Amino acid sequence: MINMDSLLTDYVLFDLETTGLSTENDQVVEISALKVTGGEVTEEFSTLVNPGMHIPYQASCINGITDDMVKDAPDMEQALKDFISFIGNSVLIGHNIKRFDLGFIRRDAVRFFGKQIKNDYIDTLPLSRRYLPDMPSHSLGALAEHYDVSYEGAHRALADCHINKQVYDCLKQEIENPSDSAKQVKTCPLCGNVMKKRNGKYGEFWGCASFPDCRFTSDCR
Ligand SMILES: [Zn+2]
Repeated sequence: MINMDSLLTDYVLFDLETTGLSTENDQVVEISALKVTGGEVTEEFSTLVNPGMHIPYQASCINGITDDMVKDAPDMEQALKDFISFIGNSVLIGHNIKRFDLGFIRRDAVRFFGKQIKNDYIDTLPLSRRYLPDMPSHSLGALAEHYDVSYEGAHRALADCHINKQVYDCLKQEIENPSDSAKQVKTCPLCGNVMKKRNGKYGEFWGCASFPDCRFTSDCR
């Protein structure tokens, strides 16, 4: 991840809908993206994707995408090819993309094209944890509510992109003018995520919120 404090105005913001939460077994059913230039949306990309498998009922309940809707849609190989050409070398932005969306994109880029996706990226989830430490939830919905951004149409990829774009614009202002509680947040020197106070066998310590991906700890002094 690139330095989260850099205030980008040119980037591609993207979001996926999937058949479920597993970056091993689940498949993509929708890809949407916004090209942002000078802070303004200049181009949209959006396609349903035929996942080659039944979309579980629980997934359809969240995103409203059904087997019938994707039966004539391009497969992931085609959709991903178009997406990769849309993003070019842009910095990618999205919510929880580090753990979730990028996992699917990287997996399928290797699977279909033997290609690594090496674009820099900014994940607005750790950004929110870092700059809004008092929020009980850092979901996109909670952030939209916090910033009074309309959440209409949420859970379809393109609508989520537009919500995320507005949330990112608001987060940039937090970065420029951090609140008192944000100033007191401790960040991990290895990965930049926030540190959380935890209780261990030998008392309290600070642990990186990216655990188990990052195992940095420090003692509580
Ligand atoms: Zn860390």
